[in-house]
Formats: sequence, C-alpha cells, structure tokens
Amino acid sequence: MQSLEVLRRSVTADYVATVVASEFLTPTIKAIRLRLDRDEFRFLPGQSVWPKFERDGRKFSKIYSIASSPSHCPEIELCVSRVGWSSAYVQDLQMGQMLPLRGPYGLMTLTELPPRPRLYIAEGSGIAPLKSQIDWLHESSFLHSVWLVQANPETPDQLPYYNYWQNLNRTWKAFQYQPALNQCPVSLLALQNLNLAEFDIEICAIGDRSDQIQEAVLTLGAKPDQLRSEKFIAF
Ligand SMILES: Cc1cc2nc3c(=O)[nH]c(=O)nc-3n(C[C@H](O)[C@H](O)[C@H](O)COP(=O)(O)OP(=O)(O)OC[C@H]3O[C@@H](n4cnc5c(N)ncnc54)[C@H](O)[C@@H]3O)c2cc1C
Repeated sequence: MQSLEVLRRSVTADYVATVVASEFLTPTIKAIRLRLDRDEFRFLPGQSVWPKFERDGRKFSKIYSIASSPSHCPEIELCVSRVGWSSAYVQDLQMGQMLPLRGPYGLMTLTELPPRPRLYIAEGSGIAPLKSQIDWLHESSFLHSVWLVQANPETPDQLPYYNYWQNLNRTWKAFQYQPALNQCPVSLLALQNLNLAEFDIEICAIGDRSDQIQEAVLTLGAKPDQLRSEKFIAF
C-alpha cells in the first residue's frame, strides 16, 4: 500500500478509462469499475474525477467521486446515481467501453492519518467519497473508532454497499455501521448518545440535504472546526 506522502504527489492529468465491471447496488445506484490507461494515476481518499462526454456535438464534463481506496489504482470505482443524461450514460456503459476523464480533483480528502475518532454521514451516492476514506483507514489499521451512518432517500429501504458495510462491521473492531433504513440519519444519530465534540465528522449528501444534516449535527454538539461536508449538485 502506498503512503499518503506518495499519494499527495498526485498530478491532475487526462486519462482514458475502460469499464471492467458494472453492477447495481440499489435499483437506482450502480458501481462502475474503471481501469485507467496509465499506472501513474494516484489520488487521495475522497477525491474525484471528471469524465468527459459528447452529446449533440457538444463536449462537457461532470464530476464523480471515487468510491474505492487509492490502493486499487490504476482501477477506480465510481458509485453513480441515475438522475439525468450523464449519470445514465455512465451507468449504461458496457464492459470494455472507454470513457475519457480528467483527475484527480477535490479537497475533502485525507492527507494524513486523522488524530480523532471519525463519524461519516452519507445519503444516496454521497457514500462514494466517504467509502474511499473508510476503505483507506481500514487498510491503514486506523485505531480510533470509525462510525458510518447511512441513508438513501431514493430507495429508503435499500442502501448502497449494505452487505459490504455489514461485513466490515463484523470484521473490523473499530468500525460501527448504523444503517438508517427508512429513517432520517440524524434521528438515528441522536439515539446513539455519542459525544460528537470528540469526533471529526464528514457529511456527503445530495444538494441542500448536506447543509440540513450539517446544521442538525451541530445542534447535537459537533464542533464546527471538526466538521466538513460535500454536496452533490449538478454543474
Ligand atoms: C464534488 C461532486 C462530486 C460528485 N460525485 C458524484 C458521485 O460520486 N456520484 C453521483 O452519482 N453523483 C455525483 N455528483 C453529481 C454529478 O456530478 C452530476 O451532477 C449528476 O450525475 C447529475 O448529472 P446528470 O447529467 O445525470 O443529471 P442533471 O440533468 O445534470 O441533473 C438532474 C438532477 O439531479 C440532481 N442530482 C445531481 N446529482 C445527484 C445525485 N448524485 N443524486 C441525486 N440527484 C442528483 C441535480 O441537482 C438535478 O436536479 C457529484 C457532484 C459534485 C459537485
């Protein structure tokens, strides 16, 4: 496994990715595994790539977080929710099809092993950058506790990577998985009696939900300087 020092030296560049796997995680969310054309691709856990598209003669790009750990490079996994043209395009790519992309980008990353316990709150495909971080912490034998509270407003009774998290919950002592099935993640969190001031907290959800969860977590005692959030919006 490469150190964060090596990953910090990642340089943004253009790549061509080939689809090596694609599977449904929920009825609307898919995991798409891509192999990049060059081994030099490096990223920090939590970073993203910008696939490039062409539609009706117009070229454009959209951003998608990497859901896998940097240790799998030059393979990366995207976790994509089907909401419009670009996400449908990525979901419908067939095995062996190619996708040009540019990356890595993004600041909600781990640049060193964190000093405190961590609480992750994810809704929908917002699980992607958080999964990359959690996988990296697991591989790094992170000693503090790592909590994941996960909900999915699209299909509230089905969570992306649910079996994966359940398994990690059984095998990694530090990991505490709290699936918020048919439930608001903040209500579930409020029941846990955690001292949130002791945690570094990362939130990733869709649009305004991210701000709403952040406000609610602050009222539960989180420290603003130990809290980061990312929102998935369409550019
Ligand atoms: C930093 C960042 C990281 C992102 N990472 C991911 C990712 O890992 N996986 C992912 O699926 N999307 C991600 N997105 C959103 C992605 O970039 C696109 O905006 C999204 O796929 C919509 O593009 P579209 O062309 O399919 O639909 P559009 O027609 O552009 O949008 C349709 C509608 O869907 C809403 N929307 C946008 N993203 C989502 C979403 N993820 N779930 C539900 N509704 C959404 C939009 O606000 C809009 O109302 C990320 C966005 C940002 C800013």
